[in-house]
Amino acid sequence: MIDVLANWDVVQDRINRAAERVGRSPETIQVVAVTKGVAEDQIEPLVSRGMRAVGENRIQEAMSKYRAAAWRDQVEWHFIGHLQTNKVRQCLQLADLIHSVDSPRLIEEIQRRAERLELDQVRVLLQVNISREATKFGLKPAEVPMLLEEAIPCEKVLVEGLMTMAPFEEDPEKTRPVFRQLRLLGEELKQKGFPRFEMKYLSMGMTNDFEVAIEEGANLLRIGSAIFGRRA
Ligand SMILES: *Cc1c(COP(=O)(O)O)cnc(C)c1O
Repeated sequence: MIDVLANWDVVQDRINRAAERVGRSPETIQVVAVTKGVAEDQIEPLVSRGMRAVGENRIQEAMSKYRAAAWRDQVEWHFIGHLQTNKVRQCLQLADLIHSVDSPRLIEEIQRRAERLELDQVRVLLQVNISREATKFGLKPAEVPMLLEEAIPCEKVLVEGLMTMAPFEEDPEKTRPVFRQLRLLGEELKQKGFPRFEMKYLSMGMTNDFEVAIEEGANLLRIGSAIFGRRA
């Protein structure tokens, strides 16, 4: 049996120590518990332990968990997977924050659907493919300002920051340049200023590399296996 509560405490401990190393306050760093492939009853114990956000990467799975979870209103639901335009409507029904917006079409569709659903504001992050791996989704860094320009008329959309995935490295230290570049990109965009943009969140760092991400300024960590164990 995997002891998710013990794992959670270990992760919190590691976050505290990494934050301390760089003089950051751990309270400014939030864990998004990545619950893909994890049953609803395995997640529940974490809710009273202080877990405030779950992250799902498939709409279907997220929807069925959302419907089943008695605790669903006690946490935020974050969508972290690749989002297809034909899934936007469903996604908006549950997601408090979408980490993975990476095209003008997607922004426009979110705007359209948000109007129809009479939503106030949809909070999103832009996914950036810093490492330029062909297998990863995300905008090229140079495309991000263009997308922020295109988002200006979309008054239902609020871009609250940036997200990236680093390539897997045996030595997590090697991911540092990726995280650093995302932070620098964020700072640059903040300087420029865009109407539908607030530089609030850097979503970066997973099980293998979250401590390096913290040192580089991450404030949303997406952590799965360190909490729930490795899954198939
Ligand atoms: C699965 C997943 C994670 C978590 O990965 P772990 O290595 O299990 O911590 C983070 N982000 C995204 C986008 C994922 O799909």
